[in-house]
Amino acid sequence: MRLRDLPSVDELARGSDDPRAVEAARFVLGRAREQIQAGENPGDLGARLDAALGAARAPHLRRVINATGVIVHTNLGRAPLAPAAIERIREVAEGYSNLEYDLAAGGRGSRQEHVTKILRRLTGAEAALVVNNNAAAVMLALAALAERREVLVSRGELIEIGDGFRIPDVLERSGARLREVGTTNRTRVADYESAVGPETAVLLRVHQSNFRVVGFTEQPRLEELALVAQSHKLPLVDDLGSGALVDVGDEPTARASLTAGADLVCFSGDKLLGGPQAGIVVGRADLIDKLRGHPLQRALRADKLTLAALEGTLQLAVEAPGEIPVLRMLREPSEAVRTRATRLAERVGGQVEETVARAGGGSLPLTELPSFACAVEEKLAARLRDVDPPVIAVVRDGRTLLDCRTLSDAEADEIVAAIAAARS
Ligand SMILES: *Cc1c(COP(=O)(O)O)cnc(C)c1O
Repeated sequence: MRLRDLPSVDELARGSDDPRAVEAARFVLGRAREQIQAGENPGDLGARLDAALGAARAPHLRRVINATGVIVHTNLGRAPLAPAAIERIREVAEGYSNLEYDLAAGGRGSRQEHVTKILRRLTGAEAALVVNNNAAAVMLALAALAERREVLVSRGELIEIGDGFRIPDVLERSGARLREVGTTNRTRVADYESAVGPETAVLLRVHQSNFRVVGFTEQPRLEELALVAQSHKLPLVDDLGSGALVDVGDEPTARASLTAGADLVCFSGDKLLGGPQAGIVVGRADLIDKLRGHPLQRALRADKLTLAALEGTLQLAVEAPGEIPVLRMLREPSEAVRTRATRLAERVGGQVEETVARAGGGSLPLTELPSFACAVEEKLAARLRDVDPPVIAVVRDGRTLLDCRTLSDAEADEIVAAIAAARS
């Protein structure tokens, strides 16, 4: 084919009634021109146009299969939701809801009411508030309790969570002034005591989510910090990060933190809780009221779909925690993971490999979950990202590892088809 044999954009697009056809035809012809100039055959332009339109029609945000063994994978959307939580979203999204309507009184209600009671039951708190994410929860707490005043925080807790999110920056955006106490590896109760002054508004503890300081270290226990806070009549805010509601490894629960004396506890909805992206604050009712009344609350609040999914997840946390996917993956016996890996390996001609899975999301950084992967050829890793749904795996030592702790049985079946497609 010669350049002058190529159809015009309009001629090529004419066969399709898709509004994106002209743009797609321009793309296909541009590529064909390059190929002809390089001495190659551009092939069937109609088929190329169909392929380009297919790609343009496909949604950009898509489901993928997580074969990395990292359970709360920040790049892969963190926590998958339980079917019961998705059902709550569907019901609330499909029609109108009592989002801010009090059915008993027949008038205006509060969107926060829907999950307050269950959060109180799960954590023992007096009151609760839900916002967009945990960074927003911490920011709102400091804005409402410490604007233009001082927040004491240990130098050992001035952390970066990931993606450039740094606790000191959030602190500053809240309008509070940061006062660092202690050193990176050692902070004592006395450091807080001597830093408290007339400007102090809040004591903040930040859970060292994604790292541990080991060796010559010291951090006061939460109980000790609570005594300092109480003796100066200052609130103690505990940013837990992951915030487990039920026992998982050595991750502190929100209830334990409140029992230890924290006045407010902030945590994520989509880390170990296993629900939607959200920031949850639980604790003293008078303090929660201050957060509710702050203008930022309006900007940071959670939407109805989040609240619906959160309520569905919290109900499972009470009744059937094993149905929350994150908890199920964390707790699945390694023998069951091995069985899944063995079946997958038999079906695709791979080898079973012992691996270490991780909680991820900055949770349980030292916990190594024994796991098993199906190992296949290294070159499949890139091709598996190009099938539908894309499969995300790990390349190690010249092979592609498909970690079976983060796969359901149904997903393992999908991977069999994906590998066949990737090999052909
Ligand atoms: C993850 C984390 C945050 C941020 O939570 P998001 O829900 O991602 O906004 C804040 N603090 C700590 C300690 C964390 O681990």
